Amino acid sequence: MEATTTVTALVRALAARELSALEATDFYLERIAATDLNAFIESDAERARAEARRADDEIAATGHRDLLGVPIALKDIFCTNGVTTTCGSRMLENFAPPYDATVTANLKRAGFVLLGKTNMDEFAMGSSNETSYFGPVGNPWSAKHVPGGSSGGSAAAVAGGLCPGALGTDTGGSIRLPAAFCGVSGLKPTYGRVSRYGMIAFASSLDQGGPIARTVEDLRLMLGAIEGFDPLDSTSADRPATANEADQRELTIGVPEEYWQGLDAGVANTLENARQVLEGLGHRLVPVSLKHTRAAVPVYYVISSAEASTNLSRYDGVRFGHRAAEYDDIESLYHQSRTEGFGAEVKRRILTGTYTLSVGYYDAYYDKAQRVRRLIRQDFLDAFETCDALVAPVSLGPAFERNAFQDPTEMYRQDQFTAPVSLAGLPALSVPCGLSDGLPLGLQFICPHFEENRLLSLGEAFQRETDWHRQTPPNL
Ligand code: GLN
Repeated sequence: MEATTTVTALVRALAARELSALEATDFYLERIAATDLNAFIESDAERARAEARRADDEIAATGHRDLLGVPIALKDIFCTNGVTTTCGSRMLENFAPPYDATVTANLKRAGFVLLGKTNMDEFAMGSSNETSYFGPVGNPWSAKHVPGGSSGGSAAAVAGGLCPGALGTDTGGSIRLPAAFCGVSGLKPTYGRVSRYGMIAFASSLDQGGPIARTVEDLRLMLGAIEGFDPLDSTSADRPATANEADQRELTIGVPEEYWQGLDAGVANTLENARQVLEGLGHRLVPVSLKHTRAAVPVYYVISSAEASTNLSRYDGVRFGHRAAEYDDIESLYHQSRTEGFGAEVKRRILTGTYTLSVGYYDAYYDKAQRVRRLIRQDFLDAFETCDALVAPVSLGPAFERNAFQDPTEMYRQDQFTAPVSLAGLPALSVPCGLSDGLPLGLQFICPHFEENRLLSLGEAFQRETDWHRQTPPNL
C-alpha cells in the first residue's frame, strides 16, 4: 500500500487477495490519525474496521465484487444512518440521521468501507473551506493555501493520501475547484444523474453529487457505483448508466474564448500546453463563444441563495438541529436557534435569498436571473451543435492563501468558470494539468447532458498522455 494507491489498484489487489480490506483500512486510519489537515469531521476507526472485517469475510466466502472492502470517505453532506451528518454547521453538530442518502445506500450495496465524513464549507457555501464550523482544511501542497471548497475535505483527503477516493457535491463548482486546487481529479455529473435524496439541500436545482479520486479511471468506477434513477428524487433522470467502453473517436473540442481571458501568464502557458496535448491526441480545437458567461456568477448567486433561503428555513430549532438553550416564546426560539446555529456566510445567503424572493424584488432579481440562466444554457447547447466537448480552465489560478479576500464577492468570482456549467446542468470534469508556483492547476472538460462516457474517455486519454495526476504534494 502507498499513499498514492488508486481505487482501481485497490480493487485489483483485494480481488487477487494480495491485500485484505482490513489492512487497507488500517493503512488509511493511521494516516488520518497522523495528519493535521483537518480533512475529516468524523472518522470512527472501530466502525471502519468492523466494516472491513465484514468485507474480508465476504471476499473469503464468495469472492470480490464491485467496491467491496474499498475504504472511501463521504463529504459530511450525505446522510449516513446513525452516523453524524453535520454539513459543516453548528446547526447539525449532533444530527445523526435515521436513514441513508441514496448515494450512501448505493455505496453500501457496492460493499464500500466508510472511512469517515469529510470537512466542508458550511452547508456547502464557499470556495475555500474556510466557512466550516469545524475549522478550515489544509491544502496538502501548502499549509498556508486553501484546498478549495466546498468539498475541500474530500479533495484534501485524496491528495493527502488519507483515502483513495471520496465523494463531494458540486452546486457551482464545489467538486471541480477543490479537485483543481489539490491536484486530483473530480467529476460533476449531469444534473439528475446522481440522486439527491438524503444529500442535504443547498440549491436544489443545481446540487449534484460526484466522485473525487486520483485518476479518471477511478472516477468512472465510483460513478458506476453511485449513479442511477431514484424514485425518491423527483429530478432524478431515468437514463441508462454510463457505458464502460472507451469512446476513442477524434473529437471537435470547443475553446470558449470567454474562459481564456484574464489568466496570468504562467497559468495561461500551462493551460496552453494542455491544449497541445489534446491536439496531439488527434482532437480538433476550435474557438467558440459563450456570450453570457459574464452573467453567470451574479445569476448563480441570486438563484442559489434564493433556493438556499427556502431550503434552510427547515432549521428552526424545533424538529431537529441546534436549539438555543434560552428563549421566551416560539419567535425567540426560532431567532435564537438560527442566530447561534448558522455562521456568517450562511446568514448572508439566507438574507440575500429572502430579499430576492420578496414581493417587489422577485421580478427584478429572481425571475430575471432565471431568464438569463436559460440564455447561459442555450449558449452551451449552441456550442454543442458543432462541438463534441469544451475545454476550459477550472479557475483563474492555483489555490489562494487563507483569508485572501475581505469582500465576499471576490470569493464568488472564483466560481466564474464553474458556475455556468452548473447553471446549464452539464457534466464536467477537472483534471490536473500542471503546476504554477508549485501549486496544481486544473483543466476542465465539459460535455453535453448525459455524455459522461465521452467526458470520462476524454479525461482517461488525457491522463494516458500526461503525468500531472501522478504528481504528489511534497512530503507525501
Ligand atoms: N463556491 C460556490 C458557492 O459558494 C459553490 C459551492 C458549491 O458548489 N457547493 O456557492
